[in-house]
Amino acid sequence: MKLLLRPKPLPDELFSSWLVRLASANISKVHPFAKRLFPRKVNFWDQDPDLTIDPRELHSLAELTGVEPPRLAQTSLSSYEGIVFEKAHSVGVTKWVLQAENNGRARRGRGQQYCWKCLADDPVPYFRKHWRLAFNVVCLEHACWLLDGCPCCDAPISFHESDFRKQASGREDGMLRCRRCSQPRTRVEEQVSPVPDELMRFQTLLMTAAEQGFSLELPGGALYALLSFHGLRRLVGVLTSTGRSARLRYHLLNGDGRLALGIRYRNGKSKFENMRVGDRAESLLLLSMLLNNWPNDFIEGCKTARVASSYLKGYGENLPYWLARELQWHLYDRFYSPNDDEREAVRAYLEKRRINPTNNEINRMLGVAFRPLVANDSLHVTGRSWNPRGPHRKTPPHTDRGLAS
Ligand SMILES: [Zn+2]
Ligand SMILES: [Zn+2]
Repeated sequence: MKLLLRPKPLPDELFSSWLVRLASANISKVHPFAKRLFPRKVNFWDQDPDLTIDPRELHSLAELTGVEPPRLAQTSLSSYEGIVFEKAHSVGVTKWVLQAENNGRARRGRGQQYCWKCLADDPVPYFRKHWRLAFNVVCLEHACWLLDGCPCCDAPISFHESDFRKQASGREDGMLRCRRCSQPRTRVEEQVSPVPDELMRFQTLLMTAAEQGFSLELPGGALYALLSFHGLRRLVGVLTSTGRSARLRYHLLNGDGRLALGIRYRNGKSKFENMRVGDRAESLLLLSMLLNNWPNDFIEGCKTARVASSYLKGYGENLPYWLARELQWHLYDRFYSPNDDEREAVRAYLEKRRINPTNNEINRMLGVAFRPLVANDSLHVTGRSWNPRGPHRKTPPHTDRGLAS
């Protein structure tokens, strides 16, 4: 059995946008229509329907609409799996995907954004999949800012709610009106602040990587864009942090002659995927500054701001090698500390050569602090830390006290 009217997904159309058009074409309201198509889901809009599609539902939907399953799968954000993020999570935050934060059928978060010029120009208006990616803040076609709220009342963009408490009309432009104030989404005054060229350039790089699956320009992305996106997401997390790493943000802003204004976090949530479009744009500009002359400016910035590798690594996260290498080589600020196996190996070596394996001798062999054999009785410290810690940090431990005395 097939649906009577079956509009096809348009280029880069988002799954929920197509579903709303499909319901509207069949003169049905979105919610009961989704309920009929997906009887297994009690509350279809509770979770983010654009993140994943159940393979069984995908096939039954393909049968009903005559759209090939691979084309249908392309409408889902899970089509970015393995390229932009590792796995799409239907609950919680998926990296680089704006969080919808649905509350029942209503949407509270700023998970949807759009270009009003694209919508105004469309013969059939529809919402694009790439507008859900958090690194997209401008429309590359029209060089204008994306909007993440109604231009009139700033309500979240929630086009699937546009037919709530209304009769099914069959009109496809229903999703162009704000549900709260009913004003058209395309009625926008010309924006006064122009989009910086640097942001256009950087977003083009990111979007190209997401489409091609690799990037020769982004660090670590020559083979797999995922490795690049993974590291960049960590760096943007550092830049938007409220903790110690925020020093790096202040340092970059200062160097650029700007005030270090706070980022507007919603309900204490400090995830990039929950941030408003303006704050994300600022953060992306800082990220592109960090990538200039990679990795030299990044390392110098971290050292000046005294942000060590331990703050940059994140907890329980395996970073891609292109980033982990720089952190380990340049921003690790602890002295080398040999483990028990290493000490034991040196002890065995010394015993074999009939040298008394004292702790001092073992330390000397391992290149850590030891007392020299010549009797000036002062501690010799090898290694230098760029970020001394502890109560004596004004007289850094790398100062050789033996020579100073
Ligand atoms: Zn546009
Ligand atoms: Zn409104």
